[in-house]
Amino acid sequence: MMLKNKRATVARLGKRMLAAGLTTGTGGNLSWCDRRRGLIAVSPSGVAYDRMTAADVAVVDLEGRRMDGDLAPSSELPFHLALYRHRPDVAAVVHTHSVYATTLACLHWEIPAVHYLVGFAGPKVPLAAYATYGTEALARNVVDAIGSSNAVLLANHGMIAVGADLEKAFAVAEEIELVARIYYQAKAVGTPQILPEDEMQRVMARFRSYGKKPLEERPQTAQNSLKIRARGCPGA
Ligand SMILES: [Zn+2]
Repeated sequence: MMLKNKRATVARLGKRMLAAGLTTGTGGNLSWCDRRRGLIAVSPSGVAYDRMTAADVAVVDLEGRRMDGDLAPSSELPFHLALYRHRPDVAAVVHTHSVYATTLACLHWEIPAVHYLVGFAGPKVPLAAYATYGTEALARNVVDAIGSSNAVLLANHGMIAVGADLEKAFAVAEEIELVARIYYQAKAVGTPQILPEDEMQRVMARFRSYGKKPLEERPQTAQNSLKIRARGCPGA
């Protein structure tokens, strides 16, 4: 089976996306690119995450041609391909319809630096203009908006998070949904105080100084969670 491990991880994190409340039903999609081989494992179209197996996960090349798997790739394949072409640093894409990020996207708002954890994406989370789902027009809007950010909101639709691997992209999606919820709640009762740009630059420099990416410091087990907390993990 081509890309066996990556396909298994796509299926596993699809279930986690559902369990974490980042999507419902068959909404959202994930992919993980093997840059060396130019192949992408991408969640299939129309399969419920709780039933998805590694064999269900489609394999396509960077032009979107089907290389393995019986099922068609996600209908949102165009923006996955566009992101891999546009951002050589990106090897994984997670797309969610998580409720708070999507709420802000429906208002056509960006997410400012209301909490320092927005630094998982960048100094803010930008907004991509609306286009019909699954279209090349939407893929162009995503590429136009994302810049060097690790997340982007899709107007009237949802959110995309990217990373150097699928666990990292997934963690960005989780953190940005949390920041979106905090922003929404803060706006509901008052005027959120936004961190200045120079402070976000310091935060992102600190994230980088903990390792190559802040996400590497995410506690994965109780044991390394203790170790990381003692070092002042940005996510702790
Ligand atoms: Zn979607």
